Amino acid sequence: MDAHPVSFTSAAERINSRIWKDLSAYRHFAIVQKLLQEDISGTVDMAAKIGKRRAQILSRPPRVGIVGAGLSGLRCADVLLGHGFEVTMIEGRNRLGGRVHQVSLTPGHLVDAGPNWIHGTNNNPIMELAQSTNTLTGSWTAKTSVVDETGKMLPPDEAEVYSDMMWEIIGAAFTYSNRNTSTISPDESLLDFFNRELTRRIPENSPDWEKKHKIMSQIAESWGAYVGNHVFSQSLKYFWLEECIDGENLFCSDTYRKILATVAKPAVERATFRYKTVVNKVQTSDDELCESLIVQTESGEALQFDEVVFTAPLGWLKQHPDTFCPALPARLAQAIRNIGYGCLEKVYISFDKAFWRSPENSENDKNDTQGFIQLLAPNYALESNPHRWNQEAVELSSFTPADSHPTLLFYTYGDQSKYLTSEVAKLSTKEKKDAFLYEWFKPYYSRLPHYNESSPDCQPVGCYATEWLNDDLAGNGSYSNFQVGLEEGDRDIKTMREGLPDRGLWFAGEHTSPFVALGTVTGAYWSGESVGKRIAQAYGRTVEGKVAA
Ligand SMILES: Cc1cc2nc3c(=O)[nH]c(=O)nc-3n(C[C@H](O)[C@H](O)[C@H](O)COP(=O)(O)OP(=O)(O)OC[C@H]3O[C@@H](n4cnc5c(N)ncnc54)[C@H](O)[C@@H]3O)c2cc1C
Repeated sequence: MDAHPVSFTSAAERINSRIWKDLSAYRHFAIVQKLLQEDISGTVDMAAKIGKRRAQILSRPPRVGIVGAGLSGLRCADVLLGHGFEVTMIEGRNRLGGRVHQVSLTPGHLVDAGPNWIHGTNNNPIMELAQSTNTLTGSWTAKTSVVDETGKMLPPDEAEVYSDMMWEIIGAAFTYSNRNTSTISPDESLLDFFNRELTRRIPENSPDWEKKHKIMSQIAESWGAYVGNHVFSQSLKYFWLEECIDGENLFCSDTYRKILATVAKPAVERATFRYKTVVNKVQTSDDELCESLIVQTESGEALQFDEVVFTAPLGWLKQHPDTFCPALPARLAQAIRNIGYGCLEKVYISFDKAFWRSPENSENDKNDTQGFIQLLAPNYALESNPHRWNQEAVELSSFTPADSHPTLLFYTYGDQSKYLTSEVAKLSTKEKKDAFLYEWFKPYYSRLPHYNESSPDCQPVGCYATEWLNDDLAGNGSYSNFQVGLEEGDRDIKTMREGLPDRGLWFAGEHTSPFVALGTVTGAYWSGESVGKRIAQAYGRTVEGKVAA
């Protein structure tokens, strides 16, 4: 993770950029219009134009079942309620929000278990919600602190050179992937590109080239904390799909709580909620049969709807291919298999004092650590970390006094996430889990400036580790991504987005969003909004022309 924006297409280049073309075309109405073969201004004979099943129910409010009360489902409900639909939210958990969720780290201090970041501040509805709800957001001016493989902090100037080069290469990789996607082999990884660039930028036999290559290769691994998987498995062909909305990356320092509450409000007030209700079958029929859709639950209930919006995470869809009856068309089933699903996890460790900050908090003090910390390929904790997995952390003490906290937030991904979540799950009590995590991360937080083993300030006082990998309703992972081997990533996403409108079955969620917001809260929000508008349109409701700005 890094506050560095992942947006590289300049305004001038947007006209030729796939990702920006996709965003401006993200209306989805084209699909419905194809279905209706007519404009839907309301003056045409809707009963003749819309599907047979839908025409039958024009005399009463259509009933929509939304499976999943995460951001996408909640936003979809808001749009549908606004167009006179009856909405039932069917949620497997005993709470709403899905992956947007807060927990107590220490008494009175909430933290986000899922998203912390707002990716891109320009024309981002989540940014607008943050502003309207007075959600505090933070960013850091300080450069990333880098600890080398021996445990020594690199001089800030040197760390900055490496960090800048890493982002230059990432930028070059976006441009290359965008321009050459059709010819890049599906087997090429971001790491392949990275290594080629390294050889070009730091030629062999230039001063210290071996040391520099090694550090840069270790820094390249930090890409994993963006997508939840290793840099060597990141598809180069579809790397362009990882580009984000432009503007800053901001950290929601007082959590996503108020944003979630605002998005949820219309549904909470006007939809029917069925909590602790896990859906395991959805039966659809084709339009000619005029039958309602039946949603079956694990407890054996059968709920009838006119339309169903399915927002379970991609990871869940991958593991339950037999949910839909009749089976999903082959291309859609394949799209669900093709797109990757990452495993980002987070571990918050709190202290009484932010010991890593210099007492005078001087930005020029070399021993003052603010913002991001990378600990590269540690060779000093081989017993617990024989694979030498990088450690990535962000310290949360340097925001404004209202929202700062003496806490380190570690991000893990890939094999390390799998290892840690499985080890923590084996332990029976919170005390044992905390003790394990304190011990595991000690070699890393003890590398920070001013650490003193015997000082009470340097003893952890609270801990929270996410377990998305163990969470079936989160699809046992974090969010969608694009892995080596992917052949038609953009088509896969578009196929999932399209869903099966003729059967009344729609898909929403971060995996169906505009390319520029895939895997994010913004993407989930836009996807729900889009499906809500498409359904409204399919019933002849007049809807605003644009989903995304
Ligand atoms: C660790 C982590 C860090 C992240 N960091 C960021 C970040 O910094 N910034 C950002 O923008 N995004 C981030 N994300 C991604 C972001 O959280 C998601 O993109 C977004 O919340 C997804 O919303 P959704 O509605 O698509 O899915 P969800 O929020 O997962 O909602 C789906 C809902 O469906 C329910 N459900 C699933 N299956 C069933 C079933 N069979 N029956 C009934 N209910 C079911 C689930 O319980 C859930 O409530 C992060 C995610 C994780 C896990």
